[in-house]
Amino acid sequence: MNKKEVFEQVSYMEEQIGQLYQQLGDLKNHLSELLEENHRLAVENHHLRNRLDGSQEGNQIAAEDIDGKDNSVGEGYDNLARLYEEGFHICNVHFGSPRQDEDCLFCLLFLNKTK
Ligand SMILES: [Zn+2]
Repeated sequence: MNKKEVFEQVSYMEEQIGQLYQQLGDLKNHLSELLEENHRLAVENHHLRNRLDGSQEGNQIAAEDIDGKDNSVGEGYDNLARLYEEGFHICNVHFGSPRQDEDCLFCLLFLNKTK
């Protein structure tokens, strides 16, 4: 291997390392998004479990749940509306991601459609 080849190889490795470094950064961003989403889902799951426990105590007869279909639709809407007010997207475009204090047209359309 002559000097020029060695130099080219080192340059090539340098480029590869640069790309790997960038990929690592991308992965890190992706990971933090996943952790954020995981946290949000854990909180939501916690809320839903609490709600479920509460409603099971309220409805001693399970059959009432089946008859109460209209209620559960309304409840689903309330949950989504609350989620939106707590600052999360409920639209299918950004579902579950934080809204950062901005109103989202898709979410608002969805809320109106569901109402
Ligand atoms: Zn949205």
